[in-house]
Parts: sequence; structure tokens; C-alpha cells
Amino acid sequence: MRKTFLPFSPPSISEEEIAAVVDTLRTDWITTGPKTREFETVFCEYIGAPSALALNSCTGALHVALAALGIGPGDEVITTPMTFVSTANVIHQVGATPILADVEPDTLNIDPIQVAARITPRTKALLPVHYGGHPADMAPLLALAKAHNLFVIEDAAHAMPATYEGQRIGTLGDFTAFSFYATKNLTTAEGGMLTANPDRIQDARLWSLHGMNRDAWKRYSAEGSWYYEVVVPGFKYNMTDIQASIGMVQLKRLESFQQRRREIVAQYNAAFSQMPEVQPPTARPNVEHAWHLYVLRLHLDRLTINRSQFIEELKERNIGTSVHFIPVHLHPFYRETCGWMPEDFPVAYGEYQRTISLPLHPRLSVEDVNDVIEAVQDVITHYRC
Ligand SMILES: *Cc1c(COP(=O)(O)O)cnc(C)c1O
Repeated sequence: MRKTFLPFSPPSISEEEIAAVVDTLRTDWITTGPKTREFETVFCEYIGAPSALALNSCTGALHVALAALGIGPGDEVITTPMTFVSTANVIHQVGATPILADVEPDTLNIDPIQVAARITPRTKALLPVHYGGHPADMAPLLALAKAHNLFVIEDAAHAMPATYEGQRIGTLGDFTAFSFYATKNLTTAEGGMLTANPDRIQDARLWSLHGMNRDAWKRYSAEGSWYYEVVVPGFKYNMTDIQASIGMVQLKRLESFQQRRREIVAQYNAAFSQMPEVQPPTARPNVEHAWHLYVLRLHLDRLTINRSQFIEELKERNIGTSVHFIPVHLHPFYRETCGWMPEDFPVAYGEYQRTISLPLHPRLSVEDVNDVIEAVQDVITHYRC
């Protein structure tokens, strides 16, 4: 058995990120400034998006996107139960109503057929999540949006970088929100990015920083740079140059991170496809998977223990894991506010009970991955029916 604990998802920070932060701290500009603008530019180029706005989180990015599109009280936004809860929280925060559509059993992404069944005259937007880094089925979702005049806001917290039918995630919907949280494929400790067309990014920029209209500076240039006008009651979601300097180094390293992620996935898949008690994750042929998560599913009918006990057994074998996600509709706030029952979204509820996210990050060695595989095999050997 493994001697030291293998953490689930530590960040991959090199001396280069450390030097970049120190360099920024030695300048006179540590909050939003030239490095943040430069990060937006290089990010845009990488994704192939027309425009981008760097923010302090993906949650903030989603909140800004909803506000910039004018979504509010009386509006409905359709999203997935299989997500981190901030996806639903921001819908609630703008005063709109979150509507859940169940997920597809293979990818655990929002099911376009379930979405279609939930569109009403009040529906204003679709908010798909690219679960684990596997793009949601965007073609039917975009077609539904077009037919019903809906906005599409994508939660791409896991999808950096991913493609759907050859197109980069970040170039498809009205807004795409990325996360640079500590565990994500690219990190700035905390951070996020919105991509969209330049007009929408201009609106989002206004909402992201107090609603202060910088165009006023141009109009009133004679009055000097102290002058601004507040034109909407905006938020305070700007990224700092300290974060941006980390992000630019991470972006340079991203391709090597992704290469390592794919190797680890191949090593896991080769092993787990030989074990009838577990089910490896799906990757459909029309996508490039970002492999943010490696979600193993247990065949509970072949085991004498449940998922939670399986996680405890792995922990005793020094393997850190996680669960993605506790579905939105199981949280007390949403149960009580929306009256949702666990079985209302049977696929999300059922799959939730058998998922375990295994360690997947570029710092894992071949031996680390072998340790995880051996631990899973050992638990299965002890607890199979
Ligand atoms: C991490 C995550 C978020 C939130 O990202 P932050 O940058 O921490 O705000 C949103 N949605 C999903 C699916 C996530 O995994």
C-alpha cells in the first residue's frame, strides 16, 4: 500500500509562476492593469474567441453574464443538476428562476431532450455545464436557443481547453465562463474569464466593475481621469494583475498539462476497463475532452459497500478522492425553495450515488496512478459480491 497520502488535486505551480508574481509585486500596479489586459488578449488568441474579460471567479463571470443580458425577475434559466451549485446560485441572485433539466447517462451533461421539454414563454437562457471537461451536446442546444430566441451561457469551468465538433469551447454561446480556481486545469488561485463578442464583453465589463462607464472618461476628457459615471449597479469582480501574471505562465504550460492528463486517463482507462465492478468515463467521438475530472462509476450491484464507504476505503489506502457533484436539487435551499425531490431528476440522482472522482492532475507520476489503480482493485477484491 501507498506510504504517503495522495491528494486529490494540488495545483501545478512552478518557479516561473512564482517569479511572475514577484515581478508584478515589484511594479507599481498590482490590481487590474496592463497584465490583466494582456492575459485577456493571449487567452482570446488561444481560444479563438473574439473578446474576453478577466474576472475574479467563474461564479462572478456567470453572474455578470446573466446581468449583462438583462436576465432577472420573471425569467427562467434552464441548467443542469449535475454542477457546482454556483451555477444555480447566480440565476437565483439575479432574481430569475432556475429550472433543472436532467442529464444524459453517458456524459452526465444536460440532456437536450429534457431541456426542450422545459422551455416555456418565460425561458430566457440555457446554461449548460461541460461536465468534467466533456462538452455538452451543443448542436441541439444551440438549435433550441435559436428556435426559441434564448441566450446560451456556458459554464466552462471544466472545459479549458475543449472542442465540440472541431470548435473550441468559448466560441459557441453568447457567453462562456471559465474558472481558474485552484483545482482547475489552469489556475490563478482564484479567477475566471468570460468570452463573447466585443459588444457583449463591453456590457459585461461595465457590470463587472461597479457599473462605471469608462466611455465617460473619453467624453469628459477635459475633466481629467477622476471623472466617471455609474450607469448600472455593477459588481466588483475584477481580476488583479497578480492573478493575471500567474495565468499567463499557466497558459504557456497548458498544452503540457493536457498531454499529461491524457496519458493518465489512458493509464486509468486501460486498467478500469478490465474491472467489471467499475465503469470508466465516456468520451464521445465528436469532442476533444479537457479531462478536468476522471469520474469513475461503481456498479453498486456488484459490490457490498456503497460509494461513501468506497471513498473511505480509498482514504485508508492513502488515496484522496472527491465527488462531482452533490446535485443542485439535493441541497436544502433548493429543496425548500423549488420543492424539488431527489427522484425529480432520476439520472443525476442515480449517477451521483455511484460516482467517485479520482486524482487527475499533471503532477501525478506513473507510480501514483498505479497506486490509485491498485487501491481501487484492492477495495473491489475485498468488497465484491
Ligand atoms: C469550479 C466551478 C465553478 C465555480 O468556479 P469559481 O471560479 O470557483 O467561481 C462553477 N461551475 C463549475 C461546474 C465548477 O466546477
